[in-house]
Amino acid sequence: MQQTPNSTGLVDPFQRRIDYVRVSVTDRCDLRCNYCMPKGFDGFHEPEEWLSFDEIARVVAAFTRLGVQRIRLTGGEPLVRRNLPDLAARLSALAGLQDLSLSTNAVRLDKYAEALKRAGIGRVNVSLDSLRADRFAQITGGGKLHKVLRGLEAAHAAGLSPVKINMVAMGGVNDDEIEDMVAFCAERDFTLRLIETMPMGDTGRQASGQYLDLQTVRQRLARRFELIPDLLPGGGPARYYRLAGSNTSIGFITPISQHFCETCNRVRLAADGTLYLCLGQDHSYPLRPLLRAGADDAELEAAIRAAIAIKPERHEFRERPEKVIRFMSMTGG
Ligand code: SAM
Ligand code: SF4
Repeated sequence: MQQTPNSTGLVDPFQRRIDYVRVSVTDRCDLRCNYCMPKGFDGFHEPEEWLSFDEIARVVAAFTRLGVQRIRLTGGEPLVRRNLPDLAARLSALAGLQDLSLSTNAVRLDKYAEALKRAGIGRVNVSLDSLRADRFAQITGGGKLHKVLRGLEAAHAAGLSPVKINMVAMGGVNDDEIEDMVAFCAERDFTLRLIETMPMGDTGRQASGQYLDLQTVRQRLARRFELIPDLLPGGGPARYYRLAGSNTSIGFITPISQHFCETCNRVRLAADGTLYLCLGQDHSYPLRPLLRAGADDAELEAAIRAAIAIKPERHEFRERPEKVIRFMSMTGG
């Protein structure tokens, strides 16, 4: 049935229009990136606490009726959730949804790329912090680089486009590889997004010891490459530069050195149905009890509006780095 978006849409108390939701389908992962999830962590939600595909589809449908046009599936690692393409197919069929994308570590992407594309996933963001197998394994707690590279090839072959590489830039860990990563992306027409470490959970805080100010990295890259300021559709919080003579853009995501909260347009639905209003604050609204108590669509929409009404103005990663006890994998990065 054709749905007409509710004309008033979702606007938070700071007059920001919310039109983007990140949907985490699991808090589990087959890697252990050392800034994200601790080694040996086993405090995961039980699968019965995860929203079912039916429940996720209901929530996303409610968001689209309220004017949300873009959804990103994330986690944890979304490809460890069984039958993910089935969920993607259901979401991409929703009227009003214009952009369905996926964040993944790409370990399993070679197996799923084609099915995901057929199911309506348009584009993928892939985490890749190093092109050196030993270093990659060290950062990810034993991950196999060749699997990620195979996954990237499969994404390209399946026509998932653009492919964006997310590289968390860490001083003394992988900062000597940023130029290599630029070249790797330029050869493949991938977009590169460099990310500052955020103090989320103990792991994120420890990694913040290796925090690298991306403003200085941009100056360093500008000495070697010609960078032309660029605007990418759906570019989100990244500040983009096109690499002259290539189809590659480089985005700088600087939550610490230059926060971008005033343009925040997103909220995050965690795997257990908690709606998080900000990556760096505790403000949240539990939707699962409502769904399981048989709430109708109007009640669900009212709950979403009530949640948006408590979206905080900004994170305080810099002023209060001790604040966020959730790991990124719990919120849905
Ligand atoms: N597993 C998928 C992946 O790695 O792309 C999706 C989830 S992951 C939590 C999403 C993104 O969050 C990744 O690009 C990862 O590098 C980033 N991330 C995780 N912890 C972070 C931290 N403490 N600071 C900055 N970025 C972080
Ligand atoms: Fe897993 Fe992604 Fe977190 Fe790495 S960043 S541990 S791949 S969820």
